[in-house]
Amino acid sequence: MKLVVRVKLLPTPEQAAALDATLRACNTAASDVAATARETGTYRNYDLRKHVYARIKDDYGLGAQAAQHVIKKVADAYTTMKANLKAGRYGKPGSKRRGNVETNPVRFRWNAAQPYDARMLSWQTDARTVSIWTTCGRLKGVAYTGSADQLKAVATSKVGESDLVHRDGMWFLYASIEVAEPELIDPAGFLGVDMGIANIAYDCDGTRYAGDRLNGYRRRQLRLRKRLQVKGSKSARRLLARRNKKEARHAANVNHRIAKTIVTEAVRTGRGIAVEQLTGIRERVRLRKPQRVTLHSWSFHQLGGFLAYKARRAGVPLVEVDPRYTSQTCHRCGHRDKRNRPDQETFHCRSCGVVAHADHNAALNIAQRGVEGWGAVNRPHAASPCIQ
Ligand SMILES: [Zn+2]
Repeated sequence: MKLVVRVKLLPTPEQAAALDATLRACNTAASDVAATARETGTYRNYDLRKHVYARIKDDYGLGAQAAQHVIKKVADAYTTMKANLKAGRYGKPGSKRRGNVETNPVRFRWNAAQPYDARMLSWQTDARTVSIWTTCGRLKGVAYTGSADQLKAVATSKVGESDLVHRDGMWFLYASIEVAEPELIDPAGFLGVDMGIANIAYDCDGTRYAGDRLNGYRRRQLRLRKRLQVKGSKSARRLLARRNKKEARHAANVNHRIAKTIVTEAVRTGRGIAVEQLTGIRERVRLRKPQRVTLHSWSFHQLGGFLAYKARRAGVPLVEVDPRYTSQTCHRCGHRDKRNRPDQETFHCRSCGVVAHADHNAALNIAQRGVEGWGAVNRPHAASPCIQ
């Protein structure tokens, strides 16, 4: 399976200046190529190369490799743009925004990510340095750092293409690596996970992940956003955009942490993981649990994605189950009744009398459905009678 590993570069000031100049040159060249593509109506990588390759190499001091990556980047950007147009993401035909997108060339920020292949970038993992092509010549011995996992990943796997990224004054490489997929364990039961607004996730062992404290943080952000929206000035809008970005990063971190904890727990106990079907989960969670405060709906889809890929990496089976009635059905006797849920937090079975936290009850049902779902797929001989 393919993974992306991020490492942080620790360039000297001179090295940083060279990286800066390189990224600027590549992206100015990309905007230039994008303009040519518009003028000539040439959008395919191969065709575009015939038009601009020699010129951008000379004009921007790009090597052969860098020039080809710049051209491909432009071709890819137009492909993405066309797909977005088709999907109606820039508004209806005839709208001003859509018209702009359709007629203006794609523009690249000076620090848009730039792809590097093995000929432009090599890794000396023992010394923890890279040797990297720049417009100021090849830089040798650029130090990098990362978490123990990240460092191990780039040291032990084959690194394919990497992206050079500049963000918040820091330099990163996003390296794509290929790792062997571990075989799935034979699970001893399933760790059921319920996702919701009040508790982002709640498992069938009764562990809750990111509840009150996170929602407190989100409410404060919401109030701040509202104030900025009311202001509506240009600086307020800019601040708002920055806040939104920061919040999205925070949310992604929380989701990573939750997914990691759940997968670690599944590995520790030799279980698989059962979650509700991930398609449409965002809408379902929002509809199921109306909240007093209108929080931005959480990215459950992202959480599900992180869970799926972390589980796969760890060889933990992940089963998506039908989420219907998991919150109204008793995990112990199976009795289903709307009135089993007297309030948001409580489950109280009207048949057998069991009382539980509502999310815990749902997670137990999801775990049970995980066992059933797994059995249905992985029990090839169970249906055939045994003749002796
Ligand atoms: Zn019951």
